[in-house]
Amino acid sequence: QQQQRERWRGRPGATADGVPVAIFANVGDEEGAKQAAEQGAEGIGLLRTEFLFGGREQFPDEQEQEAAYRRLFRAFAAGQPQGKTIIARTLDAGADKPFPALEALIGSLQEANPALGLRGARIHLCHEELLRQQLRALLRAAQATGITLQIMFPMIATLEEVRRLRALTEEVLAELEGRGLRLTPRPAVGIMVETPAAALMADVLARAVDFFSIGTNDLYQYVMAVDRTNGRVASLFGRLEPAVWRAIAQVARAGQQHGRLVAVCGELAGDPLIGPLLVGLGVRELSMNPPALLAVKERLARQPLAYWQEQAQRLLQAETAAELQHMLESIA
Ligand code: PEP
Ligand code: MG
Repeated sequence: QQQQRERWRGRPGATADGVPVAIFANVGDEEGAKQAAEQGAEGIGLLRTEFLFGGREQFPDEQEQEAAYRRLFRAFAAGQPQGKTIIARTLDAGADKPFPALEALIGSLQEANPALGLRGARIHLCHEELLRQQLRALLRAAQATGITLQIMFPMIATLEEVRRLRALTEEVLAELEGRGLRLTPRPAVGIMVETPAAALMADVLARAVDFFSIGTNDLYQYVMAVDRTNGRVASLFGRLEPAVWRAIAQVARAGQQHGRLVAVCGELAGDPLIGPLLVGLGVRELSMNPPALLAVKERLARQPLAYWQEQAQRLLQAETAAELQHMLESIA
């Protein structure tokens, strides 16, 4: 089986009938970028920029950020010839993902209800200058290394947030372009769909973004009202829930209807049983931890798109997680 998988390392992801699906990697540091390249990732679908801000007391300034992004972009680009797209997620901080260096700047983020508080994009909008710094550093590093950068915002819940973040990104881009920056193509701007509000409003949000990337880890947490870090409840919900499957289906449909690429970058994308079925729902990019890449590519290529579509629709009929699991395991 290992040999079977090896054949996929240098090939692009596709269904048996040749429908292309970008098989990207989730990366959290320079080492991860190297590993992603070794495993044949066609791009980085989720760069968790948090790596730069953790385990330190002083917040990195713009120059330090730019240097770190350059190193990471080069580490990925040098390791493989086929893909150079990198989707950078802006800093996803909050009481659930604490960063002392950030708190030293903007005050304590401790909250009684960390998952529901000042997180992700909400912090960007309260502290715009920090986001501007990060965007400038990312854009300059992209220019210096020749990678194709895309920008993605975490924890979006409303259209107003998207509009403000896009406008701000456009301002930063225009400012740098005024000073000679040229990126071709111009960076696409997308959002993580990881709140129920974003999933329910996907048809509206689609018109305001270039792409969606579904964060199934947080989406699961918020749809099921299950704290992903609390073993007492998280373990009760170990399996794919029908409610989560329906939410993903709705987002994929909205993206397709508006001609926007829909990706999945949560853990579900890297499950070989589930990844191809996400493609059946309309997802065209799967981003996962590098060790999962070959197995997902290999399974996706076993069947044509119509088969994955049919099975994905069948799963929408499941009424319980047990039933859904049973259906999943019965799929060839
Ligand atoms: C997610 O929520 O699914 C996701 C990919 O982001 P993170 O796990 O970093 O919160
Ligand atoms: Mg998340």
